[in-house]
Amino acid sequence: MYYSEGKNSIYKDYMKTLIYWCILVKSIYKCSVCGCYTESPVHCGKQAKLILDGSKRLALSKLISFILRHNPSSIGLVMDREGWVKIEDLVYGIKNLWINKHLYSWVTREHIIALAQLDYKGRFEVKNGYIRARYGHSRNLQIEISYPTDNTSKILYHGTLRENLKNILSEGIKPMKRKYVHLSVNIEDAYEVAKRHGRDTVILIIDCNCLRKHNIPVYIASSRVRLVKYVPPTCIIGVKNNR
Ligand SMILES: [Zn+2]
Repeated sequence: MYYSEGKNSIYKDYMKTLIYWCILVKSIYKCSVCGCYTESPVHCGKQAKLILDGSKRLALSKLISFILRHNPSSIGLVMDREGWVKIEDLVYGIKNLWINKHLYSWVTREHIIALAQLDYKGRFEVKNGYIRARYGHSRNLQIEISYPTDNTSKILYHGTLRENLKNILSEGIKPMKRKYVHLSVNIEDAYEVAKRHGRDTVILIIDCNCLRKHNIPVYIASSRVRLVKYVPPTCIIGVKNNR
């Protein structure tokens, strides 16, 4: 036995996460008939062209999330008040000014558009040659995006580490360094978010009508993600253990 029980389970967890990502992050293809971007190697009955493999897609997605949510100045970009930057400026910055630019010499405008279009959580928005992150911005960037309000959801989920639980149940959920608290429409997404921070996770169940009663609007960031300024402890109506 090379591993103690504890180390062994950390290793297993790590492998599970790795396998999870390899399965989750699919390659992106372009259909040779209709021209759409797709995760399927065959489209319109024909073999589609591979434009971005899974590992490059994951690396580029993480990089543009970092730039558009937290640090546009790392590649010399200035966002407008709603978080938009020109796609061509983003490509130029990644290839010429990013600290690890040598890893991204292959990046084109098409990669960024395809990745944004197919992002399963709706992290990015593309319009008229511009791109922005839909949510997740650092508070210090002072981005103001006007989101539609969600008046119908009843329950939302928030994943966190068990070590935060005691604090959250007495003080509520705060956005910390971000602008908003992120809530998930489905429990699997909440679990996935929590897992990025550590292994001992819990899922909090949030009552949306309670938030509305406290005059805390629920905003729609994407089909799977909701944003609120704060969740008071009384609106947390359940805690689900993950193990
Ligand atoms: Zn097609």
